[in-house]
Amino acid sequence: MGEKILVSGGAGYIGSHTVLQLLLGGYETVVIDNLDNSSVVAIDRVRFLAAQYAPNLSFHQVDLRDKPALEKLFASEKFDAVIHFAGLKAVGESVHKPLLYYDNNIIGTIYLLEVMAAHGCKKLVFSSSATVYGWPKEVPCTEDFPINALNPYGRTKLFIEEICRDVYQSDSEWKVILLRYFNPVGAHPSGDIGEDPHGTPNNLMPFVQQVAVGRRPALTVFGTDYNTVDGTGVRDYIHVVDLAEGHSAALRKLADPSIGCEVYNLGTGKGTSVLEMVAAFEKASGKKIPLVKAGRRAGDAEIVYASTDKAERELNWKAKYGIEEMCRDQWKWASKNPYGYGSPEPAT
Ligand code: NAD
Ligand code: UDP
Repeated sequence: MGEKILVSGGAGYIGSHTVLQLLLGGYETVVIDNLDNSSVVAIDRVRFLAAQYAPNLSFHQVDLRDKPALEKLFASEKFDAVIHFAGLKAVGESVHKPLLYYDNNIIGTIYLLEVMAAHGCKKLVFSSSATVYGWPKEVPCTEDFPINALNPYGRTKLFIEEICRDVYQSDSEWKVILLRYFNPVGAHPSGDIGEDPHGTPNNLMPFVQQVAVGRRPALTVFGTDYNTVDGTGVRDYIHVVDLAEGHSAALRKLADPSIGCEVYNLGTGKGTSVLEMVAAFEKASGKKIPLVKAGRRAGDAEIVYASTDKAERELNWKAKYGIEEMCRDQWKWASKNPYGYGSPEPAT
């Protein structure tokens, strides 16, 4: 039996893809998730895709802020490491409900770290975000850039990074890898698992996908006057399967005795504009995406993409897929599951 990994938020978009990858890699995987932004159907689908490895996955519907439940779990099982995805991630909502975000993301993480320490499990991989680069003064972003945050969601990532650094400073038995994801998109090539956000999607590609399947009439393009190739914002889109593999690479790195608390970018190193991404999706899906041009979205940066040198050098990891594969697999997921894991919303 391989190592046993606790995955918080493992029913979510990135978590479900990572759990599948871990199972196929021989890990035993225990998922905790409160299903606030996910469905237990994702876990069933992961089991199906994992085939003979499915018995190595167990699921507990637990909220991270339920400390007694965390205690009980850690008392009954021994974990080699934790991958911590669980958190709320909607930027706009975080502006309106900052205390909810601080409570869920930060208090949840503190409880997790406390319970891990109490049970001698001191290996952690945490989902940080390129959002901590804010509007970077240059690109590509390297891990030593100054970090700042433009909204409460971003601040939760920044604070948790700092908390992890402090925890490591206080106790060098900890090994922590902070992964700064750029823009995860796409789905598993089977089309059986993918992103299924509750409510109106905030991110570009889930929105584009919902337009393609007829759930929304048009995509609003936020900002057409940026100093970019076509005036629209540029981001570093990364296939979720590549991102999931980055977590396996991070777990392998945690076995390195010299590691303390390290941060790595997970991106492709390439920038793509909103219009380029829409064109790639139209090509992959054969669907026309109607556009409505609008002003810039508050807090958006112009161009953000990663330097991938550190992850390539130290994690021995590099993204394999380009935007064609991202759009192809996202469309496979969308066309097989136009309403995600659920049933159509009732007509209004
Ligand atoms: P997601 O919403 O699909 O997954 C997060 C999961 O955490 C959900 O299943 C949710 O139900 C669960 N959760 C939330 N609060 C919880 C709590 N208190 N207790 C237990 N479970 C809880 O999001 P995702 O896109 O898979 O993102 C995973 C992580 O990566 C998040 O921390 C997110 O902030 C970070 N991240 C995401 C992106 C992105 O664009 N998707 C980019 C950078 C960083
Ligand atoms: N975007 C857009 N319309 C949308 C959602 C996003 O034009 O409905 C743009 C956004 O302004 C940015 C890019 O798409 O330039 C990526 O946005 P997303 O929210 O996916 O990622 P982030 O801005 O957090 O990197």
